[in-house]
Amino acid sequence: MALQPFYILGPCAAESREQVLKTAKQIIDCFADRFVFRAGVWKPRTRPDTFQGAGEEALGWLAEVKATYGIPVATEVATPEHVQAALEAGIDYLWIGARSSANPLAVQALADSILDLRFKISNFTLKAVLIKNPVNADASLWLGNIERLEQTGVPVMAIHRGCNHQPCWSMAHQVRVARPDIPMLLDPSHMSGDAKRVPELMGKIEELGLDGAMIEVHCNPAAALSDKAQQVTPLAVSRWLLAKSQEPRVNSELNWLRAEIDELDERLWDTIAARMDVSQRIGEWKKAHGVAPLQPERYQQIVERIQSTDRFADRIQTDFALRLYDLIHEESLRRQMNE
Ligand code: PEP
Ligand code: MN
Repeated sequence: MALQPFYILGPCAAESREQVLKTAKQIIDCFADRFVFRAGVWKPRTRPDTFQGAGEEALGWLAEVKATYGIPVATEVATPEHVQAALEAGIDYLWIGARSSANPLAVQALADSILDLRFKISNFTLKAVLIKNPVNADASLWLGNIERLEQTGVPVMAIHRGCNHQPCWSMAHQVRVARPDIPMLLDPSHMSGDAKRVPELMGKIEELGLDGAMIEVHCNPAAALSDKAQQVTPLAVSRWLLAKSQEPRVNSELNWLRAEIDELDERLWDTIAARMDVSQRIGEWKKAHGVAPLQPERYQQIVERIQSTDRFADRIQTDFALRLYDLIHEESLRRQMNE
């Protein structure tokens, strides 16, 4: 099948020559054209005792994929030395990860080295540089990074991967509105961290009129050395895309706003659930210390805090806040009484 419009597929990390070539072959067998093969060569992992990519040697495996299958290849760069090694190996697309994206000095150093090497490397093959959103939900920082990379003269694309496994649609919406000219890809793999949630998130590509996706696929997800829980097979992705190929792409403001509100509702429920958990612990403490569940002066204190707050300004009416608080408090009390 032909992919519309732009997909970057491949494992989180290049683990071995065999794994890289096997995954690329499986992708080739599922998709006719229009995709870029990705694999992380240098992986910025949170903990030093986890697999951090095979390093520079793996650039040779990517070059082999490109030579054998004739498809463009992509890898992540985090330092000017990575940029030089990747460009010398003929890598077609570079992406800058979420951790580097949180540091404007790091992004500037990468932009400077791309600009410098553009005129120094004879076989300069770079077609675009892609910038992920920073790990902190900061639309301005992401926009600033786009501007820094535009100084290279190489086309720039954005990859929306969310933060802490939250979609952060509001950040992506702001960037989309500010820079409708910059293609935006979705990264459902890092957004969810969960292979089961990847198909549902892929639905957002059409719903929000995004320009494609970067998806982590592995020839053997269960054996992946990096981001194992979110690797899916190329075949699974091709089935989902085939099922979706009939749906029209839209760029609806309403769909963006609905995505934002669905995410806020999720957070609201998570916050209420977390509050219930703490309330339960309070209930246990009260029981152990012979204190009654309802403490009128404590309730009064909280009501007064709601009444006196100017935090809500015009956005939340005080009587609504009090009614909502009463509902939550009533439920907490009910649970504490059942302790
Ligand atoms: C990756 O794409 O493998 C990666 C490390 O992504 P992120 O920077 O979004 O965590
Ligand atoms: Mn990954």
